Amino acid sequence: MTDAIVFLGIQGSGKGTQAKLLAENTGFIHINIGDLLREQISLATDIGKRIANTIRGGNLVPDDLVFELIKSTLPRDCPGVIFDGFPRTMPQAEHLVDHFRLARVYYLDISAEQALERINGRRVCDSCGTNYHILHHPPQHEGICDECGGKLITRADDAPAAIKKRIKAFYEETYALKTFFEQKGLLLSIPAQNSVSEVQAAIWADVMLD
Ligand SMILES: [Zn+2]
Repeated sequence: MTDAIVFLGIQGSGKGTQAKLLAENTGFIHINIGDLLREQISLATDIGKRIANTIRGGNLVPDDLVFELIKSTLPRDCPGVIFDGFPRTMPQAEHLVDHFRLARVYYLDISAEQALERINGRRVCDSCGTNYHILHHPPQHEGICDECGGKLITRADDAPAAIKKRIKAFYEETYALKTFFEQKGLLLSIPAQNSVSEVQAAIWADVMLD
């Protein structure tokens, strides 16, 4: 079985960033399920077409399709995998513990208010895609890209209504997994309002213990 590490947390908890950093440091493969689904749809692969049909019909992507996608993405001699955005539901969590050697689940703990504050400051250049944050990484001139002079906008994904909806969904369906992994002795909760490097250090200290 392949080794696996999971990141759980709401949007704005920084789990994508930490999953990527940990993948760079361990050589494990980082799988962001959302990106993977979008990629398959845009490449119009067989599985991508099936996913697109499901979503068009207003349904959630069924677990079986998610499992198939993960299986087809992992190379034969995979050194290990870091999941971000998976599992989302209890059947997915059960599949994970049955099919992978789960080493750890990191729960990046941040309040919805703090996460929203973090996300609300994000801006991106309309022309070149450079990222900014109005508090932590502001441009020299408000609303204007330092790199190309383009206009800075809020990503549609970062619109407060979209974020609130996703945070609500997390507490409704994914938060229960925290207890599930806790009971298996696999969960480590990390305060995620700290800086990227502080959170990274806490994760790395735990990885080194194994
Ligand atoms: Zn720009």
